[in-house]
Amino acid sequence: MTSGTDTEAAPETPAEIPHFRFFELEVLRTRRLGHSFLRITFGGADLAGFRSGGCDQSLSLFLPPAGREHTVLPSTGEDTWFGDWRGMPDEERPVMRSYTVREQRRTAAGVDEVDIDFVLHGSSSPASAWAGRAVTGRRIMAIGPAVAENKSVRFQPPAGTDAFLLYADETALPAAAAILDRLPAGTPVRAWFEVPHEDDRLYLRAPDGADVTWVVREPGTGAERTDRVLEVLRAAERPAAGAPYAWIAGESATIRAVRRHFVQDCGVDRRSVRFTGYWRLGASEEELLAEAYAGRAPDEDPTAAL
Ligand SMILES: Cc1cc2nc3c(=O)[nH]c(=O)nc-3n(C[C@H](O)[C@H](O)[C@H](O)COP(=O)(O)OP(=O)(O)OC[C@H]3O[C@@H](n4cnc5c(N)ncnc54)[C@H](O)[C@@H]3O)c2cc1C
Repeated sequence: MTSGTDTEAAPETPAEIPHFRFFELEVLRTRRLGHSFLRITFGGADLAGFRSGGCDQSLSLFLPPAGREHTVLPSTGEDTWFGDWRGMPDEERPVMRSYTVREQRRTAAGVDEVDIDFVLHGSSSPASAWAGRAVTGRRIMAIGPAVAENKSVRFQPPAGTDAFLLYADETALPAAAAILDRLPAGTPVRAWFEVPHEDDRLYLRAPDGADVTWVVREPGTGAERTDRVLEVLRAAERPAAGAPYAWIAGESATIRAVRRHFVQDCGVDRRSVRFTGYWRLGASEEELLAEAYAGRAPDEDPTAAL
């Protein structure tokens, strides 16, 4: 969503086309990918206006509260939805969560489809639980891309990049996979992917030319997971490169440590490191949002900062 108040009747120029808008997504089918991942393929008439640019492009999903089948929002107007959504009684308010557009395509039959890959990490977390129960026909709402190159594509390597360094945990693996789909042939790629289970390596076959190390987490590990990742990174060889670009996403504490390693130990220019905490151990997305927006007006649209 854009935060501007564009009330003029003049036709939109490309610069004025909103980056985001609401879409209704309907579950078409689900498919298990490895141990921890469930791919949900969404369709629906609304998708004709969905414009994915790939890479790590994200969207906000609105999932029905407990006991409801479909998501219903009181309004989807750019200037009204946030206040209306926040004003709903707790037990009726849809749960907002961030996810990645793994792929958008139009089938031979002309049907628009969007894949989102959910990590199933437990039935007491709203998004993970919803995904685990999803069946054909369920409808949710999303704020998604209305233009391909919208502000939620964070992967922006500068011209002249001569190697890519990627680190992702399971929540960022869909984004890393979509980035790998788009990388130019011939540029070295060194990637580290941290997953909860051996079978999660099935999620992604190492693409041609990419040097991928899988870090399978010890069961039951908490904060010490970061030490193991750093141990693997420190022991690894990296491509000789003059202008590497690093993209790092996953659990917040690990992300900070990996970024520090790339900048301080490996000498990667800090301006060429794109890092995003996708979640934080022990905190729900509401808690993270509340921290990020502490002190802001209660009806300010959080997606304006996407
Ligand atoms: C830009 C962006 C893109 C993202 N893309 C994806 C994606 O494509 N697929 C995906 O699965 N996730 C993705 N995430 C992460 C996802 O938004 C979080 O994992 C989110 O917390 C899941 O919501 P929930 O309701 O299941 O758990 P919450 O209610 O938010 O959290 C409940 C508890 O579960 C813990 N928790 C959250 N996620 C995990 C996890 N994966 N493993 C173990 N514990 C966890 C929290 O620390 C908290 O203690 C993305 C996040 C961002 C910011």
